Amino acid sequence: MKYLTATDAGLISCHACGHLQPRARTRAGHAHQRCQRCNSPLHLRHPDSLARTWALLIAAALLYIPANLLPVMHTASLVGDEDDTIMSGVVYFWTSGDAPLAVIVFIASILVPMLKLSVIALLCFTSQRRSTWRPVERTKLYRLVEFIGRWSMLDIFVVTLTVALVRFQSLAVITAGPGAIAFGSVVILTMMASMQFDPRLIWDPVDEDKQQPTQHSQDHPHE
Ligand SMILES: [Zn+2]
Repeated sequence: MKYLTATDAGLISCHACGHLQPRARTRAGHAHQRCQRCNSPLHLRHPDSLARTWALLIAAALLYIPANLLPVMHTASLVGDEDDTIMSGVVYFWTSGDAPLAVIVFIASILVPMLKLSVIALLCFTSQRRSTWRPVERTKLYRLVEFIGRWSMLDIFVVTLTVALVRFQSLAVITAGPGAIAFGSVVILTMMASMQFDPRLIWDPVDEDKQQPTQHSQDHPHE
């Protein structure tokens, strides 16, 4: 299946307002070209997309460690002080009979962030290698991460809700620990990483392959 991209047609679109316009003909001229409509700088792809995504991703992955090792909650009660990490909170809910809450906290605070980090790393790695491996599936993974991104604050919401619930139940003073700051940073950095990744990078090597039909002749379905 042959299709024409905007780049093939000598067009460029604006990241800010989406306006599609002719690309400047001068050599490397598009690097300084500005949008006719809103005057934003124009780029064929997000500039330094992979480097920026990697940087944010590595920062998020590093902070994922203190987010899980440091206490997210500090409980001061008459019985004594207690520090809880995300995992010890999950174990606490599980053993005290709040299995559904334990499952929600585990999925939202441990599983989903790890899954997002792995998917973005996979997308970055394959795009950097200019891989033509399963572009449709990789695009679907990207859409999944973008979709989860909208619900990212659910993780923080769960922690807040937990604090509120525990506060309600006992005569104790509960404050957020340093782990909560690390955890919030993981969520925000991961969202920024997925925003910096340009999904068109998945298709660039595939399109280049198509221009030399001798190398790969099989067709992929396109959206
Ligand atoms: Zn514009």
